[in-house]
Amino acid sequence: MIYDVIVIGSGPAGLTAAIYTTRANLKTLLIAGVKWGGQLQLTTLVENYPGFPDGIQGPDLMLAMRKQAERFGAEIKDVDLKTTDFSNPPFKISADGETFEGKSVIIATGADTKWLDVPGEKEKIGHGVSSCAPCDAFFFKEKNVIVVGGGDSAMEEALVLTKFAQSIAIVHRREDFRASKIMLDRAQKNPKIKFVLNSEIVEVLGESKVTGAKIKSNIKNQISKINPEELSGKSLKTKDQELIWEMPIDGVFVAIGHIPNSTAFSTKGGPASGWKGLDVDEKGYIIVQDHTRTNREGVFVAGDVHDSHYKQAVTAAGFGCMAALEAERWLDSKE
Ligand code: NAP
Repeated sequence: MIYDVIVIGSGPAGLTAAIYTTRANLKTLLIAGVKWGGQLQLTTLVENYPGFPDGIQGPDLMLAMRKQAERFGAEIKDVDLKTTDFSNPPFKISADGETFEGKSVIIATGADTKWLDVPGEKEKIGHGVSSCAPCDAFFFKEKNVIVVGGGDSAMEEALVLTKFAQSIAIVHRREDFRASKIMLDRAQKNPKIKFVLNSEIVEVLGESKVTGAKIKSNIKNQISKINPEELSGKSLKTKDQELIWEMPIDGVFVAIGHIPNSTAFSTKGGPASGWKGLDVDEKGYIIVQDHTRTNREGVFVAGDVHDSHYKQAVTAAGFGCMAALEAERWLDSKE
């Protein structure tokens, strides 16, 4: 069996692509991943997806999209992609011990959490370190937590946490924010949220679970301007005029952006032998030509795996639609 289209990824981009390709009567396989549904599976209320005036829960939205794709005949496999070989059509995709063949491919694998990469972080993921407040905030009732980052994700995580935690400190490495004004305003107006600016976590403290964080000020020679006592600081250490202090806390929520899931396809990641891979930029985002095309003819891309700018469910869905229409036109042109 050779599919007309193989879609890889099951977030809004992948599922929208599958809705369009199946409605165009193209035999479609969707490799969804074991944890299908993408980032929206980790969200609670989505308020900005058009068509839902009262908002919709992220997982409900993804289930609705999945049902819609299945209704038109998409074959969905909840398995993880292993390798790809795009050297010659039909393109080959291995997953779960099988190799699937497609005349065209749409890559919609999204992007994953970026971690701080400081001592004490990785081993405490799930033990006080998290990247998903909607998933884990419940475990921090009346606790004190840190959210790291200065973008919309950090503001959103902090606001979700206010429903459970006693206090939230947003630790951000600069004074200016990437967050949109509305999100920043909401966070600044919330009495449970305080801001620790020009500061970075250098170590997550604790044995089996998080008990604190070691924080370093990025403002050198200005120690007198920061009062660690105000920041619930426990001990103050200075080194080369740097201010480093330990803040006792129960949780660290990391919200500093994402890493595109492109390794399996990229020139850098080393895909299956026989071809050089897709071109990616310095951050790993797949480089798009002419809206949805990659440097491999017949392989299209949609959503956060190429879009580092918008990263919205609705834009990902839009890109999925575009990739599907282009794949359909390309297949037509080949017949
Ligand atoms: P982002 O806008 O790229 O912000 C990432 C933040 O993390 C930046 O403030 C950055 O600091 C900081 N950061 C990055 N690496 C760091 C490191 N190693 N250590 C400390 N801090 C670090 O990412 P995002 O907040 O995930 O948002 C991504 C996109 O999704 C945006 O377009 C955003 O608008 C959208 N989004 C929207 C919503 C919503 O509308 N409800 C919610 C979430 C996300 P610098 O500023 O210094 O670089």
